[in-house]
Amino acid sequence: MSRIAAPLYRAALNLAGDSRRRPLSVLIYHRVLAAPDFMRPGEPTTAQFAWQMQLLRRYFNVLPLVEAAQALRNGTLPPRAVAITFDDGYADNATLALPILRRLGLPATVFVATAYLNGGRMWNDTIIETFRTVASDKLDLSAEGLPVLRLDDEASRCRAAELVIRHAKYLGSAERERLATTLAKHARRLPDDLMMTSEQLRSLRVGGVEVGGHTHSHPILSGLDTAASAAEIAGGKARLESMVDGPVQAFAYPNGRPGQDYDDEHVAQVRAAGFSTAVSTRVGVAAGATDTFQLPRYTPWDQTVPRYLLRMALMRRRLVTC
Ligand SMILES: [Zn+2]
Repeated sequence: MSRIAAPLYRAALNLAGDSRRRPLSVLIYHRVLAAPDFMRPGEPTTAQFAWQMQLLRRYFNVLPLVEAAQALRNGTLPPRAVAITFDDGYADNATLALPILRRLGLPATVFVATAYLNGGRMWNDTIIETFRTVASDKLDLSAEGLPVLRLDDEASRCRAAELVIRHAKYLGSAERERLATTLAKHARRLPDDLMMTSEQLRSLRVGGVEVGGHTHSHPILSGLDTAASAAEIAGGKARLESMVDGPVQAFAYPNGRPGQDYDDEHVAQVRAAGFSTAVSTRVGVAAGATDTFQLPRYTPWDQTVPRYLLRMALMRRRLVTC
């Protein structure tokens, strides 16, 4: 889109009511990839991420999340307000996303599950990386209540990983770990550098990126008892604060669906732990009445500039008002 179109697009957003309602779009990313990856088709490459960030810089007011939440509470949000977030703590946030964010002067928040820093791997990544490298062209998982999975091309390997992840997500954590460990025996190799090191975490902070809490071990909070969920929320915060030597103010609920992955008890625990704002994965944009301890988010997955801009504009009408 040409530079001439920029004021037109901003004016169209304002005419559509954006400037009166002053909604806040919080975007959710996980990874930024050096090159397209058939096992992670939903993740942007650095080239895609770069043009998306350029569009946000040109057409929107990108704010740090904590500042945006405060402005939402105070009614002082600027028009076309956006905050950028990443979940989980992947190393590529520091190595690939940070240089782009710094070049464009854009703030962002990275939510980190502390258990996987320094060589750890989340269970879903163990499953993805297993199906990437497993030597056979099918895997019989009928003993796990799953079908015989075809693995004879890239698309079938990707589908198999998605199916097993969907199945495993709501198993108890011990059962899920057992399944991931059983599957991992079929992997030819598994990476141990997917997540950030403590040094990379500090480089984010030094580079102006806000570090946020995402529990210690990324459990579905509603599957835990009261003491365990409180310990996960507060424990992750304390570990991050000691690593970055500063306060950690924002929190993201693991998996993040209100009423399913967390409930009011966990919102109260997040407040009690001393966070000042929190985000869910409910799809929508925040408005004046939105609870700033449950800000909705979404991922613009579009692969072209016009579609991305259209998505951003249409989503501004999808207000979450409670
Ligand atoms: Zn997460």
